[in-house]
Amino acid sequence: MKAIRVHEAGGPEVLKLEVVEDPKPGEGEVLVRVHATGVNPVETYVRSGKYPVLPIFPYTPGSDAAGVVLSIGAGVNRVAVGDRVYTAGTKTGAYAELTICTEPQVHLLPQPISFEQGAAVNIPYATAYRALFQRARAVPGETLLIHGASGGVGIAATQLARASGLRVFGTAGTAKGRELVAEQGACEVLDHRTPNYLEKILTLSNGRGVDVILEMLANVNLGKDLTVLARGGRVVVIGSRGPVEINPRDAMSRDAAILGMVLFNASALELFSVHAALASGLQNGTLRPVIGQMIPLAEAPRAHEAVLEPGSFGKIVLIP
Ligand code: NAP
Repeated sequence: MKAIRVHEAGGPEVLKLEVVEDPKPGEGEVLVRVHATGVNPVETYVRSGKYPVLPIFPYTPGSDAAGVVLSIGAGVNRVAVGDRVYTAGTKTGAYAELTICTEPQVHLLPQPISFEQGAAVNIPYATAYRALFQRARAVPGETLLIHGASGGVGIAATQLARASGLRVFGTAGTAKGRELVAEQGACEVLDHRTPNYLEKILTLSNGRGVDVILEMLANVNLGKDLTVLARGGRVVVIGSRGPVEINPRDAMSRDAAILGMVLFNASALELFSVHAALASGLQNGTLRPVIGQMIPLAEAPRAHEAVLEPGSFGKIVLIP
């Protein structure tokens, strides 16, 4: 099979398309023929060697694929040959024509969801769900600011929050992105490239502020976020690319909480619950992953450049 292999840390050019031996599933494992693979920012951090946990070289990147079960190892009974599935992690990497997963890493893909959309489910939707409901413990009727709503996690969070009865404000850096966020259910969408745009949040919430903020770029926004929180508000730090200065008094005066999160810290039980909730939303049509770009697997370096560029519009997926 063809797979992207990485032999050293570096820029996008270290992603090489190679021919490797077809993997075979062992006991408790599932072999998936990949039809599409989601590209997440974390894969660029790992590739460049700037991430706390790094794989051993050579490796195939990626955790989020969607495809069809080709064969199963002994003891597998949650999926069968021919099932459409999406993956939440793999053993052998998702930037490939075939991938091996452990049984708990594969989830049935409901019929209305395409393979491209299936590849956009795991990291974005699981992160958005965990941030909203397991970390911030958001409840219907609360107001939410999704600071960076036009990308993979932001679109997922907008759909999840809207379906759960939250009032959603979002931000995006382009007109196209703002239109997309509004279509997904945000009642107001602000431009995070405009000076003082956050002042509008206070007007929109009658001076009260928002109950929850999901923050995609904390190194830029965390200090300002604390000034637009309501009393008892929570900021979940999902993304950050550097340090930031905050005024702790802004948190003190509001009894506010800053909650960090990394999806990889979720327990097996928490992940089971996350994917059960996602299955229901994918089935009933409230969760509809948005694909912005489809790029051939061989052009994975271009996908790694694109995923870090401004002007997000849903997900970038690779097609083997
Ligand atoms: P993505 O698809 O590339 O989207 C990035 C988002 O950030 C876009 O909505 C982008 O908006 C927005 N953004 C850009 N400048 C911003 C600013 N000044 N203020 C607010 N938002 C801004 O990435 P993603 O997959 O959604 O992931 C978002 C971040 O979360 C990344 O840093 C990623 O590494 C991180 N992440 C963390 C976890 C975790 O477990 N903690 C899991 C998944 C992702 P425009 O492009 O419209 O400007």
